[in-house]
Amino acid sequence: MNVAAQWAGGILNIDLQAVAENYRTLCQVIRRPGPLSAPHPLCAAAVKADAYGLDASLVAPVLEEAGCRHFFVAHLAEGVALRPSVKNPESSIFVLHGPPPGTAHDLLEAGLVPVINSMEQLTEWRALSHELGRRLPAVLQVDSGMARFGMNAEEVAKIAADSTLLDGIETVLMMSHLACADTPEVRSNRAQLEEFQRLSAMLPKAPRSLAASSGIFLGPDWHFDLVRPGAALYGVNPTPGKPNPVKPVIRLQARVIQTRSIPEGQAVGYGGGFIAPRPSRIALLGIGYGDGFLRSISGHGAAILPSQPDVPLPVIGRVSMDSLAVDVTDLPEGSVRAGDLIDLIGPHNPLDAAAMAAGTIGYEFLTDLGRRYHRTYTGNE
Ligand SMILES: *Cc1c(COP(=O)(O)O)cnc(C)c1O
Repeated sequence: MNVAAQWAGGILNIDLQAVAENYRTLCQVIRRPGPLSAPHPLCAAAVKADAYGLDASLVAPVLEEAGCRHFFVAHLAEGVALRPSVKNPESSIFVLHGPPPGTAHDLLEAGLVPVINSMEQLTEWRALSHELGRRLPAVLQVDSGMARFGMNAEEVAKIAADSTLLDGIETVLMMSHLACADTPEVRSNRAQLEEFQRLSAMLPKAPRSLAASSGIFLGPDWHFDLVRPGAALYGVNPTPGKPNPVKPVIRLQARVIQTRSIPEGQAVGYGGGFIAPRPSRIALLGIGYGDGFLRSISGHGAAILPSQPDVPLPVIGRVSMDSLAVDVTDLPEGSVRAGDLIDLIGPHNPLDAAAMAAGTIGYEFLTDLGRRYHRTYTGNE
């Protein structure tokens, strides 16, 4: 559905050039000091959940153009959908969840590489290799302390003790994932690093990968041979509480449907949760929780009229399915009119702030972005 700009309740702009710039920024962060010819870690891209809601079929080519050759999706279905958009013969698409039971052949046929997370998946992939009589590439995931995906220490020991378990499998990457990378002060980051080193040393030598967006900023010890950022490419701050090292990617503007004046004491919206403390002017905007603008932002968060960036316009009352109300009393009279566009996420109210006002994180905000917006993409001309 591509909704005409003037017909939509909101306009979502996605700056693909900013995605490419963020990719290059992260490549700089992982660059090792020393001669240019020395091997540097490479930077992959997590494009799961349709590139965090931004459309993987448009994001992946821009990243490929910027030099990215490693793409991660979560599900087999996502990999199949993405395959035609990733064109460089050197590029690989990795399926983080591995093949669901009985689909190893489908995954291979689709030109994808599985992340092998369990002994069952390893058995299936090995069986396919035997059946076809050739070696098959795979990423091996080990669990370094998050207890999400990957082989645990016992399983790694089992594989280390019996080399036939990796028969026919070409380990193109060994990986693990960090639980607390966004809180650099916790000790588990170092513990996971050491456990990853210990486990990977037990298995045949292969390139290694541990860090996603925030892990990159823990320091070079966490970089290994490949980093796998997602969120930071899309403008989410990978270093919460510190200045954002990456550029914003999305701008979300809501259209003003109408404005109205209300007396002191007037209740606004469902449940009458907001009572005007003074005679007020409010603007009703055409974005609500039906667009993924989370209802939990009710009574928090602020919108910005682009021409008046210094005046935050508080979201008042409950967010409805299709609309929300903001208090525009502090703006000069007549400065907001029906049809105007007001930033809900923009240069003066960043994604991370809106997510925090909703009690969540930028990741969830992005992946919840609705389907009703008029979407514009810039920077891929
Ligand atoms: C989602 C994911 C990533 C990317 O994480 P960000 O925090 O968005 O950078 C990397 N690796 C794995 C295993 C993931 O699940």
